[in-house]
Amino acid sequence: MDSKHDLNNDRAPVLVFVVENNAGSGTPLAFGLSNKENQWTIKLSIIAIKKNIPCDRDDCEHKWNYVNLPNGMGFERVRECNSFNWNPFVMTDKHRPSKIAVTNILRGTILCWFHIMQTIGENFNQWNIPWSLRYPLALAFKIIGQSRTENESKEFGLLYQNFVNSLKLPNNIKQKLIADLN
Ligand SMILES: [Zn+2]
Repeated sequence: MDSKHDLNNDRAPVLVFVVENNAGSGTPLAFGLSNKENQWTIKLSIIAIKKNIPCDRDDCEHKWNYVNLPNGMGFERVRECNSFNWNPFVMTDKHRPSKIAVTNILRGTILCWFHIMQTIGENFNQWNIPWSLRYPLALAFKIIGQSRTENESKEFGLLYQNFVNSLKLPNNIKQKLIADLN
């Protein structure tokens, strides 16, 4: 989930939702258009999508219809399925209102890889990690982060710790590198 402000002359934010399809590729799920962007407008978009994701019952027709809003300001699409079990994690950037908007509506947020790796780079600078070590450290970090299971990430995590401990770095820096992964 991310939004863009430069897609129209009014600079109205367009909130974009992309999901992974069965083939493992990204595919657009929904677009939210609002006059401003804050935790409330983001929340409204998510609720509207959540209400309209078909349930996972094979015997359901997922019927839907349009209903006028009580305040006369428009309409909403309502589906008749009576189970609502779509509850994914949402990958976001560091935008705080997005994180707040997701709270209590979806399972939680995950920081996107670009921002995680950006933060790692900033930490490497701050801790004066030699350039020759940055690439192997970042690569190891990324491999662990992309583990398919929690157990796999824990196994790789131990190897990462051993690797960090084998480096010629001050102990406090080693601890920081390990804490970053945890
Ligand atoms: Zn249904």
